[in-house]
Amino acid sequence: MNDILPEQTPVWRYLEATVESVLGQYAYSEIRLPVVEKTDLFKRSIGEVTDIVEKEMYTFLDRNDESLTLRPEGTAGCVRAGEEHGLLYNQTRRLWYRGPMFRYEKPQKGRYRQFHQIGVETFGMASAEIDAEVIMVSARLWQALGLLDSVTLQLNSLGSNEARGRYREALVAYLEQHLDRLDEDSRRRLASNPLRILDSKDEGTQAVLAGAPVLADYLDDDSRAHFEQLRALLDGAGIDYEINPRLVRGLDYYCKTVFEWVTDKLGAQGTVCAGGRYDGLVKQLGGRPTPAVGFAMGIERLVLMLETLDLVPAHLRQPMDIYLAAEHKGIQHQLVALAEQLRSELPGLRVMSHFGGLKNINNKARQSGAPLVALVTQPEEGLRVTLWDGDTPYHGLEPKALKEHLQNWLSASAN
Ligand code: ATP
Ligand code: MG
Repeated sequence: MNDILPEQTPVWRYLEATVESVLGQYAYSEIRLPVVEKTDLFKRSIGEVTDIVEKEMYTFLDRNDESLTLRPEGTAGCVRAGEEHGLLYNQTRRLWYRGPMFRYEKPQKGRYRQFHQIGVETFGMASAEIDAEVIMVSARLWQALGLLDSVTLQLNSLGSNEARGRYREALVAYLEQHLDRLDEDSRRRLASNPLRILDSKDEGTQAVLAGAPVLADYLDDDSRAHFEQLRALLDGAGIDYEINPRLVRGLDYYCKTVFEWVTDKLGAQGTVCAGGRYDGLVKQLGGRPTPAVGFAMGIERLVLMLETLDLVPAHLRQPMDIYLAAEHKGIQHQLVALAEQLRSELPGLRVMSHFGGLKNINNKARQSGAPLVALVTQPEEGLRVTLWDGDTPYHGLEPKALKEHLQNWLSASAN
């Protein structure tokens, strides 16, 4: 579980602000959910025989001996809340949430035990337009962040539950003929969650899978038509994708559309966003049948990408626009007053005051890293300021002239 340090928070805030603005463009509403839910909720939604429920959940008994779990993902809680507050029945919803998720995993680059997701869930819309819309939301976000060239959209259809059931049988029958060439995990999954074997990274298993039956051949007509429509909508929007017939999600509740945005910039943990359609989940959790589509993106992985590709605007990386220091101790009070005045009159300006020792203050101030540095002096005729705007010095500015200069600087940097 990581601390997110002051050097990193600007990247997080930039990412979050961009996400918020893009989601606003699509009129999605934020929902805030608790980080703890009853354990049973996750067992019933995610499925007993998934990695998450089998080995990744932080589960504990509370003082009332009730089993609770730190949420490993957001969809279950979102559906629970939607049902509890009557948000889902007979209406459409476009929701998003953000926050920490918890999974007991082997920590490594891009994989942590407390990590953060921003998730989008839509309810009440059965046709392919909404599948396309949530993908467009994500594509527009990559565009806004400068990541579009660094990610690839992978797409597949899982079909209806029945179609997937028929495929599962065929897959199991095929794999049983090659048991000796499967890795141990895959052999175990053969009984519990055989579709997940398609995900295996093991070379021997991959070789066996090359000859396995393909899910696309088992799709029902409805799912096939839905997938065609989705593809047409994405084509129309100019969103590129690869069909990945092996793409299945780790969770049991998906049907029809599944997608992932993957990158080759992060090494092994290459999936930055994953989602799909889960029409069965609301009913499975006790509600009326409600179509649903959503996705979740991993914030840490996106932050890593923004950092690796150096895509965060430089001025957001440090907290101040101007560093303000006094030349000598006798005018520290005037420095405080001037800083307050600037904040009142130029609310967009980020002002940091120097309160430390004044030895070599000239150099210290210049080394602060701020784009603007001001040194306050008080000659006979009143308060004066020496301002460095980048490398250009302006000597002997009166407070009024300083404000004008800063005003212009602010307008210029806003453009
Ligand atoms: P993986 O196959 O990498 O384990 P997953 O299928 O378990 O991923 P999801 O449950 O779909 O992941 O979560 C959506 C996204 O959240 C992932 O694509 C990833 O970006 C991020 N994510 C998932 N688990 C972690 C983790 N332990 N640490 C950091 N990010 C994670
Ligand atoms: Mg996982």
